[in-house]
Amino acid sequence: MESFANASGGAVIDALVRALRENAVVLSEIDGAIGDGDHGINMSKGFSLCAERLAGTEYDLAAGLTTLGNVLLTEIGGAMGPLYGTFFREMAKPAKGSERIDAPLFQTMLERASQAVVALGGAKLGDKTLLDALLPALEAFKTACAAGSSFAEALAALGEAAERGKEATRGMVAKMGRASRLGERSRGVLDAGAASCALILTTMTASMTRLLA
Ligand code: ADP
Ligand code: MG
Repeated sequence: MESFANASGGAVIDALVRALRENAVVLSEIDGAIGDGDHGINMSKGFSLCAERLAGTEYDLAAGLTTLGNVLLTEIGGAMGPLYGTFFREMAKPAKGSERIDAPLFQTMLERASQAVVALGGAKLGDKTLLDALLPALEAFKTACAAGSSFAEALAALGEAAERGKEATRGMVAKMGRASRLGERSRGVLDAGAASCALILTTMTASMTRLLA
C-alpha cells in the first residue's frame, strides 16, 4: 500500500507555510467582501509564527501539525484561530508514533480533525463556512478509498472536492460568524474560510503526493 514517511512530512508543513504566506492578500480580499478583511493576514501571521517556532528543529508530520495547531490556537485572533488550531492539533494525534502515513491513517486524521471543528464551531454543511470545503473533501477521500483507489488517486479526489466545495459557497447565505449579519447580501461571493480550507487541503494533498513511495 502507498504511504509516506512521517519523518518526511515536515515538507507538508513547509509547503503550507509558503502557500498561506503567498495567498495572504487574496484571502483577506475575499474576507473583505462580507467580513472584516483580516482572514489572510491572520492566517499568514499564524503560519509564519509556526515556521519560526520550527526553524532549526527536526519535525515529522505529526510534530509539525501539533506546533501549527498550538500556534494557531493560542496566538491567532478571529474565528479561525481556535477552529484551525483545533483542526491541526486533532489531525496530528492519530499520526503520533506512526512511522508511515498511509490512506487509512490519513482518513482517520482527517475525520478526527473535521469532527473536532464541527463540534467546536457548531456549523453545518451549507452554512457558508470552511466546512463546505472540508466535509465534501473528506467524503470524496473516503469514497475513493472505499472504491479501491490508490492513496494518490484519493488525494486527488480530495483536492478536487475541496475546490468544488469552495466554489459552491458563492451560492450560499452565511449562517455563522461575522458574515451572517448580512443575511441574503452574503450570497454571491466566496467564503473566506472555505477558500483558505481549499488552499490548505490542495497544498497538503499535492505535497503528500510528492512524498508517496
Ligand atoms: P473573523 O470572522 O473573526 O474575522 P476570520 O476572518 O479569520 O474570522 O474567519 C472567517 C471565517 O470563519 C468565515 O469565512 C467562515 O468560514 C469561518 N467560520 C466562522 N464561524 C465559523 C464556525 N462556527 N464554524 C466553522 N467556520 C466558521
Ligand atoms: Mg475576518
